[in-house]
Amino acid sequence: MTFQSIDNYQPAPDVLKDRILLVTGAGDGIGKTAAKTFAQFGATVILLGKTIPKLEAVYDAIVDAGHPQPAIIPLDLESATYDEYLDVADNIEKEFGRLDGLLHNAGLLGALTPVQQYDLTLWAQVLQVNLTAPFLLTRALIPVLKKSTDARILFTSSSVAHQGRAYWGAYGVSKAGQDNLMEILADELENNTAIRVNSIDPGRVRTRMRALAYPGEDPNSLPSPDTIMPSYVFLMGPDSKDTHGQIIHV
Ligand code: NDP
Repeated sequence: MTFQSIDNYQPAPDVLKDRILLVTGAGDGIGKTAAKTFAQFGATVILLGKTIPKLEAVYDAIVDAGHPQPAIIPLDLESATYDEYLDVADNIEKEFGRLDGLLHNAGLLGALTPVQQYDLTLWAQVLQVNLTAPFLLTRALIPVLKKSTDARILFTSSSVAHQGRAYWGAYGVSKAGQDNLMEILADELENNTAIRVNSIDPGRVRTRMRALAYPGEDPNSLPSPDTIMPSYVFLMGPDSKDTHGQIIHV
């Protein structure tokens, strides 16, 4: 496995023009900023998430800024059945004919708790949202991604994925699992498809999840989601066509 960093990437203003990109957890945090940024660089963004008013606010911001009209797919990744994932794929194929990028961004922190005390229900919820849902969504969407001539799948990693750390429980396990799933897919899709698969570790970013994990930290000491967007645009756009099977640290 190669670890890379992308320094000083400066995307062309229309680098994502005509790309159809799906972002999970597009209503808040990094996903919200990623959705708006992809639209700013020309993409038609499919906003997937569970809290509809948040998705609508992102939709309105994109339309008000004069960027390509997005689409909204309400889906709760904790409770969705596989048939609902197949419906997502079906609707994208009917509406757009293909998918050029899938950003697995939605995530649940769970609790920072010793394994001995980890709540059983919460463990299952975190694994469902952070690991099983990306598997189900990817499985359903591979046929639509294969219709693109240059597609991307991007998972969201974390520093706790690479080295197990006390109290990170289901979250750490789910992120390590996502990285492994990324590598499996990268291997499976390398020679017979135009799909490039990678993970991004965004580092410390000022969001609701970060505040939950580190309540004593001053949020103003953290970078905002905007600052990490060049790496996201790189990994979802044509300039990353030779980047495959990697975990990129911002
Ligand atoms: P936020 O908590 O701000 O955002 C998480 C997003 O996931 C929200 O849009 C949320 O939707 C969505 N989500 C949660 N549960 C579900 C569900 N059941 N169904 C659909 N959507 C759901 O977190 P961040 O923006 O910080 O995190 C984004 C990604 O980055 C995550 O994968 C996280 O693990 C990762 N990450 C973040 C770091 C950081 O410092 N912020 C560091 C390392 C990794 P809703 O708002 O509707 O609940």
